[in-house]
Order: sequence, then C-alpha cells, then structure tokens
Amino acid sequence: MQIASLRQQLIQRFTDSDSAALDADCLLCAVLSCTRTYLRTWPEQELTPEQVAQVEQFAVRREQGEPVAYILGVREFWSLPLQVSPATLIPRPDTEALVEWALTLLSEQGQGQKALDLGTGTGAIALALKSEFPALAMWALEREPAALDLARRNAARLGFSVNFLASNWFSALNERNFQLIVSNPPYIDAADPHLAQGDVRFEPHSALVADEDGLADIRQIIDQAPEYLAAGGWLLLEHGWQQAEAVRDLLSSRGFQAVTTKSDLGGQDRVSGGQWPGDVAG
Ligand code: GLN
Repeated sequence: MQIASLRQQLIQRFTDSDSAALDADCLLCAVLSCTRTYLRTWPEQELTPEQVAQVEQFAVRREQGEPVAYILGVREFWSLPLQVSPATLIPRPDTEALVEWALTLLSEQGQGQKALDLGTGTGAIALALKSEFPALAMWALEREPAALDLARRNAARLGFSVNFLASNWFSALNERNFQLIVSNPPYIDAADPHLAQGDVRFEPHSALVADEDGLADIRQIIDQAPEYLAAGGWLLLEHGWQQAEAVRDLLSSRGFQAVTTKSDLGGQDRVSGGQWPGDVAG
C-alpha cells in the first residue's frame, strides 16, 4: 500500500470529521515518524504491513469520533509538544489569545514576577508562559489528580520548573501577591448542544461544563482572585464567545479596573481580564 492511496482512503473514511485531510496526515506521520511535507514528497512510498496495521488501528478509533490528540497522546500548543490524555481538555489554538495577552502584561511589568494558572490541565498555559519567560515564578493548580500528574510530566519532559499543587481553584493555595492570574476554566452550559458533537464528546465534563449558564467557576474565580493578587496585578479568563459581556460585568462589579476583552484567532470574543487596583483584598 502506497502513502497517497492510503491517505485517500482515510480521508474518505473520516466523513464525520471537519478536518479529515489533517487527521489522515497526522495519523500517517505518527506511524511513519515523518513530516507532512514528506507525505507529499514521497506519495508512492510503500508502507510495510505492520505500518498499515498500525494506521488501521488508529483509523478505526478516529472513525468512532475519538480525537486525534487522544489517539496519538500528544498535541502541540504554543509550539510545545504536550502529552494529552482523556483526563484533560485538549489544548486549543483559541487559548493562545490568552497566552499572548499574558505575555504582553509580563513583558510590561518587568522581571521577578509570580504568575498563577488555575485548572492547568495538561499544563499548556503555564508551560507556554515559562517557555517565553524562564525566570517567571510559575504556580499551576489542578483538582484532578490524573491531570496534575500529566502536567507535572509535561513540565519535566520540557525541562520547565513549575510549582504544581493539587487544589480546587484557590482552596489549597497559601501563596499570595501574584502579578498575574490566568485560567481556562470550564464555561460551557450543560444544555449546550455543542457538547454532543465532535471532540468534546470524549473530553472530561469536569473540564468543560459549569453551572449557572457556564459561569459558576468564572464567578468563583473572579470573587476570590483579589485575595491572591498583588496591587496592580491582572486576572485573565478564557470564556465562551457569548460570555464576554457577562464576564466583564462580573470583573467590574468585583472592583477590577481596565476591564477588556480580546478575541481569538477566529475573531470571537474569547478572553476577558482586568487589573486589581488595591493592595488590600476586598
Ligand atoms: N473552547 C472549548 C470548546 O468550546 C471549551 C474550553 C473550556 O470549556 N474551557 O470546545
């Protein structure tokens, strides 16, 4: 079996996927340990029977809807290869909007800073920040033990030192005076039909779904964050594309200033944040 013909077969089988060609390429590249360019350059190369069998095992899982990231156990975020598992959300390009904003704030504020990532999952946000600011004192909290374990392993493999802590939001955190707190919390409403489609069907509900129209966790974080922020520190939160106004209202009512929203790569409102003015927790 040649690369090009197997690739065509896979694309035809992945009809339920909105990224069939990319999915086929990712599975083939994983089995052949090659790049996408290689697939195009050597379309007539023959796969061994073992390679064909391995592709077939992956293809059956993909046909059943399993995300490519879970099949291969890895997903790239901010150019960092991260291990993923069904214990965590799969890092998404949307979240890079939060990382970009956080990096801008960190570069404005100078060295010697402390930052906190709440519900770190794979560790994606914390590790992206560390990759750009190696001297940053980074804390990352996670409630799910399997996810925390995975985040620790990702940090170790990449050689970044992060203070990981098992904690349900702020519950186990003693550290204070962070210049930056970031989070991609669960924010989807339980009744959202989007939960029955595509990759999210395989992701942990605890990482996706929140009560109160998806705002319960965001509300709790906004309420408690001032106690942990330094004067002038920022809180940045990822949220659903229709939640920006609600999140800005929550930030303003809590006393945050300079409250704004930034959009993701698709142009959707995706991250809102504000600056904590006082040095006394309100
Ligand atoms: N943005 C993701 C989605 O809509 C959800 C991420 C999250 O809940 N934090 O699929």
